[in-house]
Amino acid sequence: MSTQTLSPRRTSLKSHVLLAHGGGGQLTDELLRECVLPQIANPALDALLDAGIVSAGRNRLAISTDGYVVQPLFFPGGDIGQLAVCGSVNDVSVCGARPLALALGMILEEGLDKAIVQRVAQSIADASRRAGVPIITGDTKVVGAGQADGMYLTTTAIGLVRDDAQLGFDRVQPGDRILINGAIGDHGLAVMLARQMPDVRSVVRSDVAPLNGLIHSLLDALGDKVVFMRDATRGGLSAVVTDLAERTGRHVIVDEPAVPIHPQTHHAAEMLGLDVLEAANEGKVVVVVRPDAAEAALQAMRSHRLGAEAALIGSIGQAPDAVCEVTTAIGGRRILHKPYGEQLPRIC
Ligand code: MG
Repeated sequence: MSTQTLSPRRTSLKSHVLLAHGGGGQLTDELLRECVLPQIANPALDALLDAGIVSAGRNRLAISTDGYVVQPLFFPGGDIGQLAVCGSVNDVSVCGARPLALALGMILEEGLDKAIVQRVAQSIADASRRAGVPIITGDTKVVGAGQADGMYLTTTAIGLVRDDAQLGFDRVQPGDRILINGAIGDHGLAVMLARQMPDVRSVVRSDVAPLNGLIHSLLDALGDKVVFMRDATRGGLSAVVTDLAERTGRHVIVDEPAVPIHPQTHHAAEMLGLDVLEAANEGKVVVVVRPDAAEAALQAMRSHRLGAEAALIGSIGQAPDAVCEVTTAIGGRRILHKPYGEQLPRIC
């Protein structure tokens, strides 16, 4: 059997998978709707949340899985191992679940230095301890030299959904407030600088962190006044707020000057010609709360180490137009669109 080679010249957006299909934006949505979801559709999957929810007796379990293909494997502030643990822990946590355990899959390329495997394993162990979530099963495969890019990881997290967590797009109402636990874009820019400009010394560091502690202290403080949460990973803050508008059918307003951005990250984005709003985060959660709970939510976040720079960044408007609007420092207004393809390939 011959193996078909895919040269860039012979691939097209209409008929082939492109790097941009992995960006978590409109093209990822299109690919899944066209090629994957019709075949495997079911009510739990169709909700398209960060984790799928299944009933187990009187309990609800959340399950989430993610693949990690970041390049380089090590970057300022983190590495592929930390990403793999935190990413899945965060995905079940934003669905209101306490993560219980993780499964880890490793695909290694022949010729990879064993010292790299050990270093990543140590990092996985450290992140797992930090999150308080053990890795209880796993799988290892090796492919031939040139058939992978060093190492790919997959993690799956399982969690128990809290009884008092009532989260979903359907609970979002006009007047609700939007918050974030800190500055955006650090992860995407740290990886891009490490890859594109390895000789440039920068203080931009990935924000990769397990958010289960912060999320559950927020739910402890506010219960069902928290109505929606999502971690702002690929596609950044833009992907979350535009999806919020699309899925709720509501007008979403983001107050741009209120969005925390570290000056060095802003500078790096300008240098690379990237939009910080679309840059990935690995330790940021967007939270929607009832208006009378906004101040308490801000305090609860700020009292946690991973929420010291938390901010109130927007609200849900009255109009049922599914539009996301950004208000600027000088009083301007612009419509925010869902990221289309891949601004930053292979950042997680
Ligand atoms: Mg997520």
